Amino acid sequence: MNLNELNAKTSSLKNGNKMPVLFIGHGSPMNGIEDNAFSESWVALAKEIPLPKAVLCVSAHWLTQGTAVTAMEKPETIHDFGGFPKELFDVRYPAPGSPAMAEETRRAVKSAPVALDHEWGLDHGAWTVIRRMYPDADVPVLQLSIDYHKPPQYHYNLGKELASLREKGVLILGSGNMVHNLRMIAFDRINDPEFGFDWALEMKAVFAKLIHERNHKALIDYPGLGAAAKLAIPTPDHYYPLLYALGLQEKGETATLFNDKAVAGSLTMTSVKIA
Ligand code: ZN
Repeated sequence: MNLNELNAKTSSLKNGNKMPVLFIGHGSPMNGIEDNAFSESWVALAKEIPLPKAVLCVSAHWLTQGTAVTAMEKPETIHDFGGFPKELFDVRYPAPGSPAMAEETRRAVKSAPVALDHEWGLDHGAWTVIRRMYPDADVPVLQLSIDYHKPPQYHYNLGKELASLREKGVLILGSGNMVHNLRMIAFDRINDPEFGFDWALEMKAVFAKLIHERNHKALIDYPGLGAAAKLAIPTPDHYYPLLYALGLQEKGETATLFNDKAVAGSLTMTSVKIA
């Protein structure tokens, strides 16, 4: 092998024309309209990665029985929250859908049937983040639902099955929060930067360590992580999107953490880029 061939080989191995995979801690819906360190990091991230042909978002806010993918031409913006300013309810994110990519997604998953959905749209787990990344709404966006009746391993395995979409230019984006306990939010310290309860900070460190060590087994078996994990993940809706992202980490790929911060005591914004 001469030097040119070697270079060609290593660069194709390195880039592989494969999109990175993201898990984004989305936090408050206000991040969709506020300029802060989190929303600014999403803007910067979009500039640093290749422009995707489509985004496939696994949002914590679409829980179903059975797995589905949105397949409409024009997904509606869903305002699935209460108690926020009118300004947030006024936001429309008019990114198109992609029935063709929905069909590709359906076909990529062999282990379970994936329904083509025409009812959902873009919930705030998807649009608050993606509108900051692609403000011109010119990249098609699809959502893949979370079958809430299935165990953690199902979600990890299903993530793996989406691998071929990365080579087709699809950005797979899990949107949730690793530590997410809304009942314990410290409303009195909501503006206190990086305030986290002891158990939240403990789990923030545990998640970082396990992700860096690539100990996916421990992350799938998260109830085994102890008392702090029970407080961090009282329900797994915001945690499962992480498992889809981790399932896609291939040999030789690195998981890089960013926004690794606690907010409001009982949430963490920790996000992961896999490339
Ligand atoms: Zn959420």
